[in-house]
Amino acid sequence: MTPPKPKQLSKFAPDILRKMVPQTLERHYSVMSYDGHDGGCPGCKSDHVVGFGWLPKTFCTIITERGGFKDVKVSVRRYLCMHCKHTFLASDAPFYDHCKYGKAIVDLCLALAASNPYNRVESILMQYGIQVDRDSVKRYALAFRDRSIKKAGIPVMDSSDAKIGVNILKMLFDVENVKELKEKYPKAKYDSVMDETFPRKKGAKEALEKERFNKSVNGEKLPKFPDSFTVASSYMNHLECFASIACRNSPFNEIVAEALAKPLLGADAIVTDGSRCYNSIRDYNCLFHKMKNFFGIDPFLARQREMMITNSRKLPPSIISEYMCDIYSFAKVEYEEWLKARYPDLFDSETGKYIGAMTTNAMEGGNWRMKYELRSPYQNVASVEARSILIALKRFFANVQGR
Ligand SMILES: [Zn+2]
Repeated sequence: MTPPKPKQLSKFAPDILRKMVPQTLERHYSVMSYDGHDGGCPGCKSDHVVGFGWLPKTFCTIITERGGFKDVKVSVRRYLCMHCKHTFLASDAPFYDHCKYGKAIVDLCLALAASNPYNRVESILMQYGIQVDRDSVKRYALAFRDRSIKKAGIPVMDSSDAKIGVNILKMLFDVENVKELKEKYPKAKYDSVMDETFPRKKGAKEALEKERFNKSVNGEKLPKFPDSFTVASSYMNHLECFASIACRNSPFNEIVAEALAKPLLGADAIVTDGSRCYNSIRDYNCLFHKMKNFFGIDPFLARQREMMITNSRKLPPSIISEYMCDIYSFAKVEYEEWLKARYPDLFDSETGKYIGAMTTNAMEGGNWRMKYELRSPYQNVASVEARSILIALKRFFANVQGR
């Protein structure tokens, strides 16, 4: 079942936008021409270049009132280098390399892809009378991911070639790690959280059902989870921004954890769940995960679970939840005291509270929000990573605006 598409515009607005936006684009860009060539030939840097005709280039494709498509073209000057015979286009033309449409359209696609799956970007643009197909949107996002990895990919161990994920701090602040960021802004708090989430692969749910059926026939153990990607990230709690993010086709492991922790060098504290992959990284455990483990082996709760199975007399749920709440509150106070003593930089003497992250939920409601924002299942890992990077960047700018 396809969920209904949310209505973003009022009943009357789409018509106006559908006409106005394409008209404005056409009026503005169809008369534009670009002929700048700063620095001469991009190949040999020679200044000896001559004009070599004009090239019409599609800035965007608009949807006409009758529902047809029309390319809005700009004129771009072509040059010939007399020294190396290389031809090249005007440097001020509003196009990115290897992108069919103009920069403004590509930027718009990326901005929309930070909040929407690729196919949804296509339908939103359609409401504005602009035609960009889903595959192009995806291509732009993938190109953005490739560039991000090239500029801010995190080297695996000491190899400079193999990279895992991207360093978001580098993309946003041009620093390698928290240590460098601290030098720029010494007054901020730098506590951080690391976590993973597992968005399922396209078609994985159906495949799981089939596998479960086949195994149940043979009496084998049934698999619980659908095949999924691993989206792992690190997040700066006080800065309200991601520090690193990576998507993998394989289960979470130490190598990924270690790579993602590199930008956190110099952080005041790193909080993670109890996974062994973080053993050499974490400063302390997430309180929720700690308590989950504690309740897992608590003899009183174990007895209650046993009674539930054997259907014998058991305590009402309210008593059990009260019991758990009491223990949790007690543990929280204890934990907070321990943290205050251990991380005095994260102790606020005015309020008497520990202000560092105590749980991985500090990641603004947990990494599940990333999963929620990814929305639809994806076929390949690069597509998920491209959207995750855009979502992470959007989160930072949305938080900055909200301040
Ligand atoms: Zn040249």
